[in-house]
Amino acid sequence: MAHIIWDWNGTLFDDLHIVVESVSACVAPFGRDPISEEDYRDHYTRPVSVFYESLMGRAITQDEWASIDGIFHETYRSLMYDANLAADADTAIRLLADEDGTQSILSMWWHSELVPFTAGFGMHDVMKRIDGNREDAGALKADQMRAHVERLVTNHGVAVADIVAVGDTFDDAAAARSAGIPIVLYDGGSHHRHELERVGVPVVSTLTEAVGMTSTLV
Ligand SMILES: [Mg+2]
Repeated sequence: MAHIIWDWNGTLFDDLHIVVESVSACVAPFGRDPISEEDYRDHYTRPVSVFYESLMGRAITQDEWASIDGIFHETYRSLMYDANLAADADTAIRLLADEDGTQSILSMWWHSELVPFTAGFGMHDVMKRIDGNREDAGALKADQMRAHVERLVTNHGVAVADIVAVGDTFDDAAAARSAGIPIVLYDGGSHHRHELERVGVPVVSTLTEAVGMTSTLV
């Protein structure tokens, strides 16, 4: 019986357009034109400061970074109620539940904001756990993935061998690898599909497809 650990931003939550708008607000004071989704995917990398340096083609000072970080979060929070779940998120979640699979959410968005926000989409009724970032902005998803898997096993009786992650970034893939679980990458988020395909794990275009694939991975 499969258990899926869903990523939130760029996976269950279709927020790329508001992320792009928020990044555009951050680079506007530097005289840069608004970016497109294509620009975003061309430059996307972590850590996020390197992403902005790549976008602007120059180094960023600490003061500039603090201002960018502030503008991003302020803009994102003002737009996040305009974004919705991925087109087939509800279908995919129901499909897994109908197959007696279980599921949870692990996100690097702040835990205190993620929990009430996901509740607004009815996630608390179907997810065994919803974990966001309770540490600082520099926290690593790999550490949080290992802790999430540990809690699923210890507190919810999930077997590690049944767990598959679904996410949209290289970071998600590295986190899953570090926790010793397989991952399916979804191309609706931060990376170009051809880049995801280089990771060497299954890549899908819909979340329903990701659910269908889990049975071949566990
Ligand atoms: Mg994501």
